[in-house]
Amino acid sequence: MSRASDIDKLCIHSITTKPWSLRNSVQKFQEAGVKGISVWQDAAEAIGIAEAGQLLASSELDVVSYVRGGFFAHTSETERLKAIDHNKQLIDEAATLGAPLLVLVCGGDPEQQLSVSRDQIQSGIEALIPHAQAQGVKLGIEPLHPMYADTRSAIVNMAQANTMAEAIRDEIVGVVIDVYHLWWDDQLEAEIKRCGKHENIFAFHTCDWLVPTTDMLNDRGLMGAGCIPTKQIRQWVEDAGFNGYIEVEIFSTAYWALDQDEFLKQIIEAYKTYA
Ligand code: ZN
Repeated sequence: MSRASDIDKLCIHSITTKPWSLRNSVQKFQEAGVKGISVWQDAAEAIGIAEAGQLLASSELDVVSYVRGGFFAHTSETERLKAIDHNKQLIDEAATLGAPLLVLVCGGDPEQQLSVSRDQIQSGIEALIPHAQAQGVKLGIEPLHPMYADTRSAIVNMAQANTMAEAIRDEIVGVVIDVYHLWWDDQLEAEIKRCGKHENIFAFHTCDWLVPTTDMLNDRGLMGAGCIPTKQIRQWVEDAGFNGYIEVEIFSTAYWALDQDEFLKQIIEAYKTYA
């Protein structure tokens, strides 16, 4: 059973076509038949959140998520409180943009143990729940690859994300599954099942891991260009009950240097064949 050609499920993250303005991305995605968009903060801020909200509302695209909140872990309490305030503002921005989900890159502080950072992350998310509920914006914990455990995310696998979401136990808090960060984990299938059982799969991000990878941040590949079993992971996620967008999220200096019209064609082709 192949669902790979179902273009109605294709969402593209605005960071993927970073050289384009948000306005340009919206127009080009629509013309190409893409149905969903996730919005990177810088792209929205470049034209102002209110105007970005109007642009998206008047488009035919579904806004899938706003990226990114988080960074809750700090040795300093002042910084932790600041992070919570900042995330409240991001929740407000997500609401203005019509985004139902704020993706959380949860943070880490190399001056303290990862377990301490994780406790602070949980407290930070819990502190946001009333505000998120009032605005109708969900919060998605995105576990990142362990190579980012120093400063970007003390949550590095699905088990940790599941455990936290289950401990928080609020329908507004769930998990964002990104193949780039999680493909290496031998517990992935089981943890995706677990996540689905608790109805905690809030979003699904896809791309590929290039071999060799030359940059820890900006060298992701198109689906099919690397070693991630992208279709297999999508299947697990959909078998676990997720029926939302398949979101292409690619940070890549190399692709950003291409003609973006050409790149968009490649994205759609890779989606149809490998996602
Ligand atoms: Zn992601």
